[in-house]
Amino acid sequence: MANDILPYGRQWIDEDDIAAVVAALRSDYLTTGPTVARFEAALCDALGADHAVAVCNGTAALHAACAVAGLGPGDEVLVPALTFLATANCARYVGAEPVFVDVDPRSGLIDVEHAARMVGPQTRAIIPVHLNGRPVDLPAVRALADQHDLIVIEDAAHALGARAGDTRIGDCRYSDMAIFSFHPVKHVTTGEGGAITTAKPKLAAALEVFRSHGMVRDPEQLRGASPGPWYYEQHTLGYNYRLTDLQCALGLSQLTKLDRFLARRRALAARYDQLLATLAGVEPAAIGTADTLSAYHLYAVHVDFQASDRTRAQVVAGLRELGVLTQVHYIPVPTQPYYVDRGADPLAYPGATAYYESILSLPLFPAMRDEDVDRVVAALAQVLG
Ligand SMILES: *Cc1c(COP(=O)(O)O)cnc(C)c1O
Repeated sequence: MANDILPYGRQWIDEDDIAAVVAALRSDYLTTGPTVARFEAALCDALGADHAVAVCNGTAALHAACAVAGLGPGDEVLVPALTFLATANCARYVGAEPVFVDVDPRSGLIDVEHAARMVGPQTRAIIPVHLNGRPVDLPAVRALADQHDLIVIEDAAHALGARAGDTRIGDCRYSDMAIFSFHPVKHVTTGEGGAITTAKPKLAAALEVFRSHGMVRDPEQLRGASPGPWYYEQHTLGYNYRLTDLQCALGLSQLTKLDRFLARRRALAARYDQLLATLAGVEPAAIGTADTLSAYHLYAVHVDFQASDRTRAQVVAGLRELGVLTQVHYIPVPTQPYYVDRGADPLAYPGATAYYESILSLPLFPAMRDEDVDRVVAALAQVLG
């Protein structure tokens, strides 16, 4: 139907996903049963990771990663100026300060050279973001981290299924941890959900303790002698950040479709690339490079609004009238009042500002048809005049 409303992203739920959740509802466990571990094992399989720890959302995953990395007051964490709020907020959750790093004005990815200039005596970690699903230059981030003894936490919320050179995003070949989100607009969903992957057994164990109140039950870890099977000890301050069996049942079912979803996203992106090549004033933000494979969480384009003589608000409204919903990812974080109040300089990030000024996310989700892409491009051509 020509008049379908196309959102910028949406989940794909099949009857077998619904059946998986119903089966979980009929089982003995609604939360913290056998399905959590099965979901974590399936994630490890899909990503080539050694350990995966499921938590209740991607923001909790970032918080947990910062906590088990030992970050705290007095520490500085390098984060890109252009990302979702949670990438910066997680540093604040543990009392550390995010230090914003500029991004490339075309790709929106963290500028590693600028990151190197922002390293100071208190810098302890860096959180690169694979924006739109396109991997950052991880070997370059790793080299910087090695030089200054930094912890690397990948914000891979956009990048489930992305690859770069010899690494699958999430295998943590170049990082200490990677975090994922299973929000409905992400590649696979559990409603709300998230996970941390790591190759380090000690971090994996600490993450499991952190997501459940800081409680320790492993007899080898206990400080006192266990008087019986009920016994536990709290060694650190943790939270209730658990993901439920119900959600993991959905996630397991969704993960079986990840390859199909990714292939569809990539095919739709290739169609956009091809059709947009002839549309003046519109340029994709993330064209894949020879040795990286984007997971295409978003299909973002740079629009030359000045040349079209229309504001972004006018273009967004015009597209909406034609049934095409768009979104802007993201407003530079150092411009947020919360961070300005903490001393951030909103004018210090020309790359992030330039990226933000021209960017627009077009509809991209696996249930889209080829004709939907054609329709979006035609609508964009019409609205831009
Ligand atoms: C979605 C997202 C998050 C947070 O995930 P939630 O599951 O929504 O908490 C973090 N970082 C980025 C870049 C995201 O897109």
